[in-house]
Amino acid sequence: MERNQLLNRLKFIVFFIIFYAFSQLYYTRNFNFTDDLEVIIGEGSNLPANWVGSKNVDKNVPILILAGHADSQGLAGAGTPGEAVDKFGKNPMHPEISDELFWNLKLQKSVVNIGKKKGLNIRSYDPGIRNIDDANDPRTNWSVGRKFAKQGGYAIEIHFDAYGKYGVGSGLIPPFSETPNRIDESIAKKFGRFPVLFRGGLGAPRRQIRILEIGKLEGLLEQNLRNLKTRQRTINLIANEIVQAFLNGIM
Ligand SMILES: [Zn+2]
Repeated sequence: MERNQLLNRLKFIVFFIIFYAFSQLYYTRNFNFTDDLEVIIGEGSNLPANWVGSKNVDKNVPILILAGHADSQGLAGAGTPGEAVDKFGKNPMHPEISDELFWNLKLQKSVVNIGKKKGLNIRSYDPGIRNIDDANDPRTNWSVGRKFAKQGGYAIEIHFDAYGKYGVGSGLIPPFSETPNRIDESIAKKFGRFPVLFRGGLGAPRRQIRILEIGKLEGLLEQNLRNLKTRQRTINLIANEIVQAFLNGIM
């Protein structure tokens, strides 16, 4: 009797291990990760934009990466909550900031880390204070970016666009009154381009800060960001493409 019981238990354990191994295999095969940037970022902006960035850029150009909405988590302009939260009722990634800012900050960090390793003169700025009402306060993204651009640097703010019909898609918005350069061109080739006068010339481009919309925070892109198994790979994939665009633009 004792022996039979032991045998049964052993059978159950073996069965469970095999079942677990197969379920893991099935899961990893089905998490839909792709290394293809175009597939992951989804549709690009198809707004008419005919600017071309041909101005040469110094190879040591200082680059500043800003995370969109880092200082505007108040009522207006907090960034998109994303499809998962807004449409499917999932929990936000962080209780106090929008999902867009959550991902903007992660991507900002990754772009700077990878960029430094690849030899770029690159840094980030984070105001730390999550809500500054006055856009012209010296601590905002826009004030710091404006000053940086004025001194000859390349300032760019990263964003994820709203999902579905609320967003446009991926692409670069060039600076308002500065001639687009080869870095702009190189980024636009990968991510697409917005017209210079998009929405009447937004606050950032008016301060000569570029805006990069990575893609709509929805579908495959958002799923791969939210899934812990694919999160870091997805962030690194996008960050790598941005860094590569910088390198292509300054050579
Ligand atoms: Zn945004």
